[in-house]
Order: sequence, then structure tokens, then C-alpha cells
Amino acid sequence: MTPILRFAPSPTGRLHLGNVRTAIVNWLYARKSGGRLLLRIDDTDQQRSTAAHAAAIETDLAWLGLDWDLFARQSDRFQRYDAAADRLRASGRLYPCFETPEELDLKRKLQQSRGRPPIYDRAALKLTPHEIEARLRHGEKPTWRFKLERGTVAWADMVRGPVEFQAENLSDPVLIKADGQSLYTLTSVVDDIEFAITHIIRGEDHVANTAVQVQLFEALGGAVPTFGHFSLIADASGGKLSKRAGSISLENLRDDGIEPMSILSLLAKLGTSDPIEIRTDRAQLIQEFEIGKFGRSQPKLDIVELEHLNAKLMHLLPFEAVADRLPAGADAAFWDAVRGNLLRVSDAAPWWEVVQGPVTPVVAEPEFLALAATRLPDGKLDETSWGAWTGAVKSATGRKGKDLFLPLRLALTGLDHGPELARLLPLIGRERALKRLQGHVA
Ligand code: GLU
Repeated sequence: MTPILRFAPSPTGRLHLGNVRTAIVNWLYARKSGGRLLLRIDDTDQQRSTAAHAAAIETDLAWLGLDWDLFARQSDRFQRYDAAADRLRASGRLYPCFETPEELDLKRKLQQSRGRPPIYDRAALKLTPHEIEARLRHGEKPTWRFKLERGTVAWADMVRGPVEFQAENLSDPVLIKADGQSLYTLTSVVDDIEFAITHIIRGEDHVANTAVQVQLFEALGGAVPTFGHFSLIADASGGKLSKRAGSISLENLRDDGIEPMSILSLLAKLGTSDPIEIRTDRAQLIQEFEIGKFGRSQPKLDIVELEHLNAKLMHLLPFEAVADRLPAGADAAFWDAVRGNLLRVSDAAPWWEVVQGPVTPVVAEPEFLALAATRLPDGKLDETSWGAWTGAVKSATGRKGKDLFLPLRLALTGLDHGPELARLLPLIGRERALKRLQGHVA
């Protein structure tokens, strides 16, 4: 049986680290197993969903390099949901409720004040067909609830192991709102059945939904998929990721120069038994992926970790991978010289200015620099020039270490830190180097 997975974001905002993780894990599962992935846009909530957000989700996934084999938009499928609701009505599993939100709220408060869980009391089930008809005729607009069957709902969770719920501890969920709109609990199951989804992997915030949805799969005659619920990410300070670090959008990260492979390397492994290390290749992440490696404990995410991975990635990216994002004229020698000092590709630009000039040299000891200038090796400077030069200056002056190198760096770059001068010097070139050693802007 070919596994069929899905990623089902609601287009009510940009993708953030929390839901991107769900996308990545489902994609990895599909690619590892030779299965297929459905991208489903859950846009039944027409007040909060926008076409722009839906389009941005596709752009974000493509930027990450995640592809999908099937595509569906829930707003194209309202008839399917209505048909499913009719079937549930016909089998007595969907019943109308006429309580107002205020009444429900009051009921909940009363239950809570008595120390009882706020479970819907099924008062609407006591209405006679005659009463229901009268209220409908009167123009009242009911919500429609799914009647759960009493008893244990159990599944073998790919991450959490055996999970059990007692249905009597759950409220009959509203599947259709008073305005007739089908809700996620229903639409998701209808689509999961129609697209023959075999595996549903999502965050543990959906565990209670799963208990309800297992009964819905059964009521609609669908095969119940295999479920996996991974622990939500906490940020380093302990808050739920969805509220804090997790709400950092992919768009923000991209604007900050975080690379797709940094995000993939982190989120493919976060919460698993594997160490988090930078990978340059999606194929390696696929090969390393196993859903069984995800544990139950809550993983912590410090956003600084992402920056570290990004910096590591800079060391590994070849010139060709970044060429179109470097300043015009920058070549492979430049990239190789500076990449070890960068957190992001755009950090290369200031070093290009250092190489090309104009740089205002910092000159503390003009005589020392004047002497050093006379020892600069003849001919075209290459990567051996720096060693030869500083060796000669050292012999002539007796200086070593910082006393020797720092004045040269300050004069040549105007800065007290930066990439290896052995690599920068040939890029700066003899003419500019001499000018800067003389204290001229060049
Ligand atoms: N649209 C739902 C969400 O974003 C999908 C949840 C699910 O995977 O079933 O939470």
C-alpha cells in the first residue's frame, strides 16, 4: 500500500516554524516511504482565510524545496461536506442544537463551578422531532453536533504509543455552524477519506481531535489512518512555540538570511533522538528520517540555534549556490575567503566593500606601516604572499603576534577583525594595499 500523507495548513497567516515542522515531517515521511503528499489548503473559514495567504504558503514551501504530488482546496469542496453531513443526519449521528453561545457559556461555567469538566450536556437530544421542526420553521438556525458513541477510542500512535480516550469525557463536537459552514473536524475527515490518506502526522494539540475524528472516520465508512502526534516545540524560555519562537514566520527568517537547509536541518531533527547538525542535502535528511525517532518529551528551540546552523552552512555552500546573491564582480576566491566569517550570505557584501574599497585605513603607527610597505612581496599577490610578507616584517622589526598583525589588519581593512588576511590580501591587491598602508583612502 502506497502511503499517502497530507499537509493541511489554514491560510489565515504566513507559515511559521510550528506548522512548517509539520510540513517537513510529512514530506520526509512521504519521500522516505515512496509515498505521496497532498497539500490541502484548509480554507473553509472564509472570514479568516485569504487567497494571498494560500499563495504565500505555496511560495514558502517551494522556497524550502518541499514538493507535493496532490493539491486540494477545501473551498472547492463544500458540496462533498454537505453530502457527508446529510449521510450523518440520515444515520442519526448529526443532531441540531439551538442553544445560543451565551447559554452554552453559562452551562460551562456552572459545570466548572461544580468541579465538573465542561462537556456538552446533550440537552438538544431531548428535543422531540416536533419541537425541532417547529423551531426550524420559526427560522431558528441550529448548530449541528456529531453524536459520539460511548466507550473507548484507542489507536496506536506512531509517536506516543497506545493512546486511549473515553468518549464520555468528550463533548459532541459541532460539525456545522449556525450559518451552515462546515467545520474543520468534519471537512478534514471527509477529505482524508476521499484522498485515501493513510498516515496523519501532526502536533499533539490535535490529540483530542483525533479521538473524535476516529469516530467520524468510522461513521462515514472510511478507513481510519495511522496517526502520529509529535510534541509541540517550546521556546528556550519554556513557552509554547505557537505563541513565541514558533510564531516566527518563514518569511521573517528568509528576510533575515536564514537558508532553507538550515531550517530543514533543524526541524527534521528537533524532538528526535538524532543530533541536530547542518545538512546540505535534502536526500540525506530523507535517508536519516524515521518517525520512530521522535520522542514524547517537549523539544526546546532557541532561535540562536538556527543562526548557528546557518553560519555552519556558509562554510559548506559552494560559490555556485550563492553567486547570484553576492555583489556584482565577487568571485569564488572572494566567497572562499569570507564565508567562514558569515552568519548569512548577505553578510558577504560589506567584505566585498573592504576588498574593493574605498576603505579608510586605521593608522596608529605610520612608521611601522611604511616599513611594512617596503617588504610587500613583488609581483602579483597570492595566498602565500601574506605569510612571506609578515615573515619579512617580523625579521625586520622583531614584532610578532598581535603587535605585528593588528596594525596591518587595521590599515588594510579599517577593521580589527575579519576573514584571514592571507585570503583577503590577494583580493585587495598590491596597489590598494600600498595606498592603505600609506594611510590613503583606497
Ligand atoms: N488546518 C488544520 C490546522 O492547521 C489541519 C490540522 C490537521 O492536520 O488535521 O491545524
